Amino acid sequence: MSESTTRYPAVAAVDPEVATALDAERLRENESLVLIASENYCSAAVLAAQGSLLTNKYAEGYPGKRYYAGCENADTVERLAIERAKALFGVDHANVQPHSGSSANMTAYLAVLKPGDKILGMALAHGGHLTHGAKVSFSGKIFSSFSYGVSRESGTIDMDEVARIAAIVKPKMIVTGASAYPRFFDWQGFRDIANEHKAYLMADIAHIAGMVATGYHPSPVPYADFVTTTTHKTLRGPRGGMVMCKHEHAAAVDKTLFPGLQGGPLVHVIAAKAVAFKEALSPAFKEYQARILANARALAGRLLAHGFNLISGGTDNHLMLVDLQNKGITGADAESALHAAGITCNKNGIPFDPRPPTITSGIRLGTPILTTRGMGEAEVVQIADWIDAILRDPKDTAVQSRIRAQVRELCGRFPAYP
Ligand SMILES: *Cc1c(COP(=O)(O)O)cnc(C)c1O
Repeated sequence: MSESTTRYPAVAAVDPEVATALDAERLRENESLVLIASENYCSAAVLAAQGSLLTNKYAEGYPGKRYYAGCENADTVERLAIERAKALFGVDHANVQPHSGSSANMTAYLAVLKPGDKILGMALAHGGHLTHGAKVSFSGKIFSSFSYGVSRESGTIDMDEVARIAAIVKPKMIVTGASAYPRFFDWQGFRDIANEHKAYLMADIAHIAGMVATGYHPSPVPYADFVTTTTHKTLRGPRGGMVMCKHEHAAAVDKTLFPGLQGGPLVHVIAAKAVAFKEALSPAFKEYQARILANARALAGRLLAHGFNLISGGTDNHLMLVDLQNKGITGADAESALHAAGITCNKNGIPFDPRPPTITSGIRLGTPILTTRGMGEAEVVQIADWIDAILRDPKDTAVQSRIRAQVRELCGRFPAYP
């Protein structure tokens, strides 16, 4: 793309290769249907705040207690982000500095645990996150980690099973929340189990934060000692993390994150978090979350009608896990066939998956981005029909290119970043 047509003239003047990639990314986000459940398209206001010159500022410490001069504007945006986060989730304390969801989780653990302590989280293979104790993650290396999963019959978390495992493990922290779980979490049930073993309870709401903030998913705040989240999934903010907790853990959380784990915060990202939280406090955001859910239900219903199996039989939230075993195709083949038609999703292991994580037997689908673009149930049903047509024969490239053109036309009617 030439300098005159690029959306990034300042970048193009210095670095045409990066500018070309940025322009191509804008085109990709506009012209494909992204059903990746962990992604979203943030607003122009969030993008502008994140692209601001606060990226220049060192602000080690916390508002009013910095280790550098010149932090008055950094203090303003961080205080706004904190106050809005507290209002949004009804929490005592919020630390908005974690660079990511993973660092938020590390912070919550190290605020009260020591290396070698036992944690009990949801198995990665059953929808948990790497940081919930997977052996390849810091969480499974620093801590002695154990896991619970879903029941083979129902595809849902069996609380009696969690209680049985907790009684054997006697964990110091129970971790709940997931990356690929389509149902509500029983926070009270987890709290009761934690109480029996005097364990801390952490709820990682990375995926469902938008629904928790608007009341469409029960909130763990009354039950959990720590609530962690990302800010870029259903919350639709900049890429980043946050730790929330009760008063009693506030000082430990802040000290653990800085100076314990991070140096200077990303003040430009914190500014963007503040903007995103303001958006999330608006009535329009609540409506947005309701539409995400309606779209997810419509997508799930249509896929079921096409004979697809969904883990747990459906969804209570923004995502669903499609079990492709009865269709005789792998998650990897489905992912690439759909991608060829402009439909982007991710292959995902299903509970008790016989295939390795590089292949898998499932795909994970979510509706946050389609909904951000303004698509509704009619569009979602059309997309389900395309998914069905493509997956009938993932090798049929003619079907893929026919649908690719239709996808482009649909995307043109719902521009993401004009
Ligand atoms: C996405 C996710 C995270 C981690 O977020 P990153 O910002 O990628 O580190 C943590 N926990 C859960 C449940 C997630 O889904």
